[in-house]
Amino acid sequence: MIEQDERACILYIEDDDDIARIVRTLLERAGYRFLLASDGREGLRRFHDERPDLVILDLGLPALDGWTVMDRIREFSDAPILVLTARGTETDKVRGLRAGADDYLVKPFGNAELIARVEVLLRRGESPRAAGEPVVRARSRILEEHGIEIDFDAFSVKAEGRPVDLTPTEFRLLETLIGHRGQVLSAEQLLQLAWRDPTATGPDRVKFAMLRLRRKLGWDRGPDSPIETLRGFGYRYRPPA
Ligand code: CA
Repeated sequence: MIEQDERACILYIEDDDDIARIVRTLLERAGYRFLLASDGREGLRRFHDERPDLVILDLGLPALDGWTVMDRIREFSDAPILVLTARGTETDKVRGLRAGADDYLVKPFGNAELIARVEVLLRRGESPRAAGEPVVRARSRILEEHGIEIDFDAFSVKAEGRPVDLTPTEFRLLETLIGHRGQVLSAEQLLQLAWRDPTATGPDRVKFAMLRLRRKLGWDRGPDSPIETLRGFGYRYRPPA
């Protein structure tokens, strides 16, 4: 890294000045570099420009709302996103996690709790590639199956000839499933193998990532998806017949 400032950088996208000021004080006191964007559009622009290590995202935002901002970020990045919002219903939480949030904290929040959650997400982000590299990696650098082409060295994927933008997590998820072809992997196993995070927040995270992965690969149509769901057990990559 050529970065001169080695502090972890946190982008907070929030239109409420009072909360923004409190969070800034907390995070700066905890040793983080703090960036603020006061609407969704500015938030996306700063995300592109500054590549923060973590995003804290309000949902009710002018210009672009938080859901849209999260969608745009998730199209190309796995940067951890902590949703910080007044909307605390179960539906909102599920929707937030489905859209790709890593954690969800409802206002008003405890100062120590916010810092603790930020620390957890940042630690998760720096976990190194795990030892359990999929077998397929050693055998073949490019794999063509089920209408997709995966280049394991370039981390690129094409579906029916067109490039597919997978986030790093989605790529590892696909790599893990293919590396364990024919085997059923539970959500917990996938959290360890693909997220490298045994403490991550349960099966919903896997479920929603799997939905996104299938959709991006065009594998979400019908029961013949190469990625099978075995209800109550987990997921299995079906080798071509
Ligand atoms: Ca707001």
